[in-house]
Amino acid sequence: MFDKVLIANRGEIALRVQRACKELGIATVAVHSTADADAMHVRLADESVCIGPPAASESYLNIPRLLAACEITGADAVHPGYGFLSENARFAEILEEHQITFIGPTSEHIRIMGDKIEAKETAKKLGIPVVPGSDGAVNSEAEALKVAKDMGFPVLIKATAGGGGRGMKVAHSVADLGLALSTARSEAKAAFGNDAVYIEKYLQKPRHIEIQVFGDGKGNAIYLGERDCSLQRRHQKVLEEAPSPALNAAARKKIGETVANAMKKIKYRGAGTVEFLFEDGEFYFIEMNTRLQVEHPVTEAITGIDLVLEQIRVASGAPLSHTQEEVTFSGHAIECRINAENPRTFRPSPGQITYWHPPGGLGVRVDSGVYQGYRIPPYYDSLIGKLIVHGKTRNECMMRLKRALSEFVIDGIETTIPLFQELVTQPDIVNGMYDIHWLEKHLGKP
Ligand code: ADP
Repeated sequence: MFDKVLIANRGEIALRVQRACKELGIATVAVHSTADADAMHVRLADESVCIGPPAASESYLNIPRLLAACEITGADAVHPGYGFLSENARFAEILEEHQITFIGPTSEHIRIMGDKIEAKETAKKLGIPVVPGSDGAVNSEAEALKVAKDMGFPVLIKATAGGGGRGMKVAHSVADLGLALSTARSEAKAAFGNDAVYIEKYLQKPRHIEIQVFGDGKGNAIYLGERDCSLQRRHQKVLEEAPSPALNAAARKKIGETVANAMKKIKYRGAGTVEFLFEDGEFYFIEMNTRLQVEHPVTEAITGIDLVLEQIRVASGAPLSHTQEEVTFSGHAIECRINAENPRTFRPSPGQITYWHPPGGLGVRVDSGVYQGYRIPPYYDSLIGKLIVHGKTRNECMMRLKRALSEFVIDGIETTIPLFQELVTQPDIVNGMYDIHWLEKHLGKP
């Protein structure tokens, strides 16, 4: 087991990883930018290192500075959290070159899955069903037109290097195609420095259902059920739940086994999420995330398995703690992403939290990195916390979520809590009848 883990992240996820380390008796190192000197993840870590100014490129994304922090503190492993460098194959590789363990998959697996075209081809070869689309990248408008006409409109142009919903544009007809192609390309170029795009059939009313998997890197792999993340705004998840209201036990087992078998074949190591769109009873692979997901706590709630602890154990060379037969699903869990944003316009609302009262009670978990008096810096993601509620049934979970939301008080800034309070009164949400377009239709396009 490791002696000291450096957590290359900030906010709630840095704290989340610290908690797992502490339970394993591992010392923790926090890194932070000058803007985060007062952050909770810094206060609670055993040691901390300031790695640069506020801009992420100068701090949380700066590999040489992170390496220096490892050397100064003598950390023998790095947990990247999610976002930042968590899916950066080069970072994983450099750490290994310095005999520091990257708590995650091999750099090779990160690289393959980070290129969406290669990921899709790999998935197909492994027997995972994929969304129909172009055979690799499309290089010209003429080629795009041919693919779109063969497949039928609407189509979706997607960035090969995509992430966070950027570089994605729908074309409903031939007339839209040229513009969709050029905007997707320029967005992708600006966001990822790579303007390669490909085309997929645009599914009209799918749900987003993802499978959590875990491998030991030696050919053993298990699945930990699914998460339904269909409530999205601008292709970004807003609320997640497990199990999905749209799946039954047989469908879960079938897709879970397909994915776990694929992971066995590639000898995948650590936690991974295989994302699908699900429409008319069929699954279509869209991508694989080779890291811990924001929404991992809903899986923890229904399986009782600490995913971060497992990540650390597996990275240290230990076998998986559970066989597939030992994994059981109990009850229902929902997570709400609490962002420091206006609940209608979604404009970020950084500033000082003047009052903070999180909810509690049976089945209620709040993962957050903030506290009363904390000043949210304007430089990073607006996620300030996650409310995760667990109940014996979906109905109990919903009632408990309503109750927990009514207890949550955050003053001084705007948050998305009022949005969730409204969502839990909507019959479609209460009944689990929603697809990936529901939220935007309901909010009215901005
Ligand atoms: P990113 O990596 O940018 O998050 P994904 O490929 O994971 O991109 O897709 C994000 C979201 O975009 C999905 O959850 C879904 O809502 C939407 N999406 C992606 N592909 C399609 C498609 N072929 N048809 C309809 N919606 C899609």
